[in-house]
Amino acid sequence: MSAIDGLPPLREVIAAHGLTAKKSLGQNFLMDLNLTAKIARTAGDLSSADVLEVGPGPGGLTRGLLAEGARHVLAVEKDARAIGALAEIAAAHPGRLEVLNADALKIDPTAFLTPPIRIVANLPYNVGTELLVRWLTPPAWPPFWQSLTLMFQKEVAARIVARPGSKAYGRLAILAQWRCDARLVMELPPEAFTPPPKVRSAVVHLVALPEPRFPARAESLQRLTATAFQQRRKMLRASLRGLHPQIEALLESVGIAPTSRAEEIDLEHFCALAQALDASAPIAR
Ligand code: SAM
Repeated sequence: MSAIDGLPPLREVIAAHGLTAKKSLGQNFLMDLNLTAKIARTAGDLSSADVLEVGPGPGGLTRGLLAEGARHVLAVEKDARAIGALAEIAAAHPGRLEVLNADALKIDPTAFLTPPIRIVANLPYNVGTELLVRWLTPPAWPPFWQSLTLMFQKEVAARIVARPGSKAYGRLAILAQWRCDARLVMELPPEAFTPPPKVRSAVVHLVALPEPRFPARAESLQRLTATAFQQRRKMLRASLRGLHPQIEALLESVGIAPTSRAEEIDLEHFCALAQALDASAPIAR
């Protein structure tokens, strides 16, 4: 495909820079620049925002973000082999693309960005969930970012937008929906990527709410939901026994039947329980 930005097609970029995909880095590259521009559009108005992109690889999504008018893009890539390809994109868009050869888990992106900040990424599968949980659980809210537009395996995307009572409902749904509006915006087949992954992928768009829907401490809610869903088929009075000596009474005090199971409990009740646990005795650290 001939590119509108005057840069070579992605296949040529990958060949020129020897970017054969590495499984250990979760590398499945998007090759269609129409598709990457479409993903960039689902992120909302980028012209007045700085964008953090994690894992730009050969730069397909980066080029989409720039083509859609992103004010400034910080692209954080762990694979040193991709830096030459990204430098060519930066040269074609003077002053708009900053490339960091770094591990996204180890840097503080706020040092490089000016709010408002949107995060857009086709995340490496091996670190995607960890990054998402970090972005959702800072102690204070609102966070440094305004929205997250993220590609995941479809199964992970379904867990982010899941409702109580469904199989996909769990810790990710609660953490995401507690502080954000979260929706699924696009599904992609394996053939959209090179090499094609084994599963379908999906893009989720999360917009940070001005404040969480219900009061709770992020750390407590995270620990509570991790414990509750670790044994999701067990009754809560059993799965949460380790959190408090009088767990049955505590569950009842916030209107949860001790015999109910984690997947039946909505966000409001999980927040109330996290608060009650904090008030009676902090969850073991
Ligand atoms: N954005 C490109 C695209 O859509 O074609 C590449 C997406 S690929 C699924 C994931 C990218 O994340 C790879 O380029 C990989 O090298 C990079 N990556 C993996 N782990 C990383 C980490 N810890 N920090 C930054 N980048 C990472």
